[in-house]
Amino acid sequence: MSLSPETFISLWKELHGFKVSESGEKEVLMEDCIFCKIVAGQIPCFKIYEDQKVLAFLDINPVSEGHTLVIPKAHAENLWEIREEDLAGVHVASKKIIRALKDTLNPSGVACLQLNGRGVNQVVMHYHLHLIPRGEKSPPLPMSSWDLKPGDQEAIARLAEKIAAGLG
Ligand code: AMP
Ligand code: ZN
Repeated sequence: MSLSPETFISLWKELHGFKVSESGEKEVLMEDCIFCKIVAGQIPCFKIYEDQKVLAFLDINPVSEGHTLVIPKAHAENLWEIREEDLAGVHVASKKIIRALKDTLNPSGVACLQLNGRGVNQVVMHYHLHLIPRGEKSPPLPMSSWDLKPGDQEAIARLAEKIAAGLG
């Protein structure tokens, strides 16, 4: 059997965890990533939304009713790594989804949470945006009710300059 170079490269990429999408775009699927498995249909999910770049489904350990995860279909671990087009896709989709959460659950608010790195308790290493509605009569969400304590304003100013300098 002889394969054209294009077919060979495409098969090699699939075998090594790269998926070539219908549009010809190369998208990474990681073998040991649970969310990539959901994207590939190998593991079920409670899907609520899908488009070319994005999938959204309900969290199976919900912090509150309607706790939703919005993910890029292409694997990226975190905000440092995600492609801008996928990031935009996730956040534009989240605007549609938050509207549906409002219509369905009438929450008093929705927290958007996104963790980057094991140090802040990221467990699934595939970028995901949590949309966590708070029910009208539910207690405050832990991630949205911290105490405000004034910081050292001079230290904050110095740090702002330092970070801004790094941004060019
Ligand atoms: P974190 O990485 O800490 O931001 O959170 C990962 C989230 O993924 C947790 O809230 C889990 O409950 C959720 N999760 C893990 N596996 C699944 C799954 N198969 N379907 C839906 N949600 C999941
Ligand atoms: Zn993944």
